[in-house]
Amino acid sequence: MSTTIADVRCHVLEAKINEPFWWSFNQSDVRGSCVVEIIAEDGTSGWGECFGPSRLNAAIVNAFKPLLIGQDFRAGDLIWQTLYNQFRDQGQKGLTVTAISGVDIALWDLRGKHFEAPIHVLMGGPLRTEVKAYATGTYRRGAGDPLDYIVKEVEGYVEEGFGAMKLKIGFGVEEDLALIRAVREAIGQKVGLMIDANHGYDVIEAVELGNAIAPLNIGWFEEPVVPDELNSYCEVRARQPVPVAGGECEFTRWGFREVLTRRAMDIIQPDTCAAGGLTECKRIADMATAFGVRYVPHVWGTGIGLSASLQLLAVLPHTPPRRTPIEPMLEFDRSEHPFRQAIMKQEIEHKSGVVQVPDGPGLGIEINRDVLTEFAVAD
Ligand code: CA
Repeated sequence: MSTTIADVRCHVLEAKINEPFWWSFNQSDVRGSCVVEIIAEDGTSGWGECFGPSRLNAAIVNAFKPLLIGQDFRAGDLIWQTLYNQFRDQGQKGLTVTAISGVDIALWDLRGKHFEAPIHVLMGGPLRTEVKAYATGTYRRGAGDPLDYIVKEVEGYVEEGFGAMKLKIGFGVEEDLALIRAVREAIGQKVGLMIDANHGYDVIEAVELGNAIAPLNIGWFEEPVVPDELNSYCEVRARQPVPVAGGECEFTRWGFREVLTRRAMDIIQPDTCAAGGLTECKRIADMATAFGVRYVPHVWGTGIGLSASLQLLAVLPHTPPRRTPIEPMLEFDRSEHPFRQAIMKQEIEHKSGVVQVPDGPGLGIEINRDVLTEFAVAD
């Protein structure tokens, strides 16, 4: 098999969903994705996905194309550095790095196919072959009472066997408190419950809420405040007792160096499809170990991003190392997504809240090309 990159293609996919969903600062009735396909000279394809606005990601991946064609796909680190250095002056965070992430994942998939090994084996694992998943959902709908339909939704997750779930908040302290109390009451004391404000609060509100929910055994308080204000993160950490999580809007080792050295978060959540791909996220994970900070990846998107996250989860270091270590969890998005699973020939599903790490070559998934056509956005 030749190891030369012959072509790079972006598949911009979009699908309308039946019911629009709201979170603290926005709403949507569309699920979209930028899927990156890197094709070797012998016709083998490697697949990646970029987190974020699909058309903008595609524009940047297409700009990378001349830097990728003719390169050896085995030289993943060299390619990462070339792309980052080329666009560094304007591209240290955001879309340039999300675009690099999709490329990096596709290159790992190609290497896995070339060496006939799962990515997590090439990365030195596995440390684990399955992970506990927590359910992400509980978005607001256009109509109805959240105290009614969200409570029903979380009861469904308990019935499905999930041992933990995440509740979307960020709509105002009073309203959020009522919902958090109702959900804790509904799911009982044994099921893990985390909250995610999607940076919908300022420090005063986040501190008020965090102190009020102290008796409710909340696993973490995710994105309490805007990501670009690390001082606010530090204040929220210092002034209320719930562990603070964040990082889905942070990028690269340099971005997380600031988070870690300033001790702004208890748990970091880099997105593998955003923070720099598998190559960079492994570096960030190792760095987090050196700071004694937990790492639980943010996961959003199609089965490609899901599989990439599972490959990384398989190699995340044990922190702290002990006989029964704390294991990282998989964020398992349960909200409506017409092609999340359909993009793969075989689904990645949970059984009683546990998901197996795909162990085929590369990402361990096969892409259903009909779905790429069905949901393709016209140029
Ligand atoms: Ca989040």
